[in-house]
Amino acid sequence: MAQLSDDCFAFAGRLLPLAEAQARIAECFSCRAAPERVPLAAALGRVLAGEITAGLCIPPQANSAVDGYALHHDDLAPDRPTVLKLAGRAAAGHPLAEPVPRGTAARVFTGAVMPPGADTVMMQEDCVATETEVTVPPGLRRGANRRLAGEDIAAGERALPHGRRLTAADLALLAALGHQEIAVRRRLRVALFSTGDEVQEPGETLHPGRIYDANRAMLAALLARLDVDVTDGKILADDAAVVRAALAKAAPAHDLVLTSGGVSSGEEDHVRAAIEAVGTLAFWRVGIKPGRPVALGSVGDTPLLGLPGNPVAALVTFVTIARPVLDALAGARPVALPRFPVPSAFAWRKKRDRREFLRVLLDDADGTLRAKNFPKEGAGIITSLTGSDALAELPEGVTSIAPGDPLACIPLRLLYG
Ligand code: AMP
Ligand code: MG
Repeated sequence: MAQLSDDCFAFAGRLLPLAEAQARIAECFSCRAAPERVPLAAALGRVLAGEITAGLCIPPQANSAVDGYALHHDDLAPDRPTVLKLAGRAAAGHPLAEPVPRGTAARVFTGAVMPPGADTVMMQEDCVATETEVTVPPGLRRGANRRLAGEDIAAGERALPHGRRLTAADLALLAALGHQEIAVRRRLRVALFSTGDEVQEPGETLHPGRIYDANRAMLAALLARLDVDVTDGKILADDAAVVRAALAKAAPAHDLVLTSGGVSSGEEDHVRAAIEAVGTLAFWRVGIKPGRPVALGSVGDTPLLGLPGNPVAALVTFVTIARPVLDALAGARPVALPRFPVPSAFAWRKKRDRREFLRVLLDDADGTLRAKNFPKEGAGIITSLTGSDALAELPEGVTSIAPGDPLACIPLRLLYG
């Protein structure tokens, strides 16, 4: 359940630094998704409901890393080739029961359990073999080409932490540990609305003065990548009563109500007032650009989040505000986005006390990687998202960037899933 203390709502009005907004979110919202068991095949992207401890060693037994000959290292002459008689054969899945006698070698294949006694494997490409014996050149290291039991993970070690959003590689590890089913958090339910009298459904004939709804498609896709069940609330008119009624109606059956548009301070912006009318407002101005107006509040224990209308601002606030809210509600361990330092190819000035996100192209045409600013930079320029490579994050304290200064670049692709 989300636990909202009075303390969480002491910030309405002032421009809240992003880090403070995120700290408030972590403090005010907690996991409200009960665990459920799902087959491993359905677990991609789901949030792990508990820590996973390895119940066995991977690999369970020492085995050969190559096709070759398993031998006793002590049998090898250090300075000249050694001839060993062949005794026994072990293929993957067919272990040799008998030990390899001293002075002999066993034919082994990749993945075959190491025959008892043998401690080293010579690659078949590096030695000369006949039907009955193998000649091994000097210089082989003890333990070469042998994988030890538990060298990947040992029984009892932590395999995956609680709250992990499961990746394809996590499914490989869980399967290798023998899990057929896994306990994950139930999916969150999010009601998604667009707002605005000018906003129209794609597919309809576009009326004069109108635009098609870009945000709902983007936000639904971002939510889908977080494995959220989305209720499509469609487009709300710029009408205070309509917005209020829609938020109040959606809240009880959802874990989050998410809107875009109508959140700044214009006369036709009704989302913030609606949050205040039906619930409690936590904050509505965050020190980021694009995305300054972003309203977070709650009705009952359901958070209401109003993202700005401009599509780039909607994306930036989804990543910086909505994602932490969803992580908290889902019981997911937040994943820190990597920021790669890339020298700037441009000069830039910005206001202090705003964290600014610029769309940049990563260009290495002359062999040196540089971040170029996308030529069109407005918060409504959708092609600045489709046509650039990364968001450059300019910290609050910075007021100017000179060419050559390192920019903290977050690859845009990482934001989409
Ligand atoms: P607002 O926050 O409602 O003032 O909207 C800011 C800007 O974003 C305006 O130019 C709106 O037309 C635009 N906008 C609002 N909602 C959407 C949407 N769903 N898709 C595309 N643009 C939008
Ligand atoms: Mg609007």
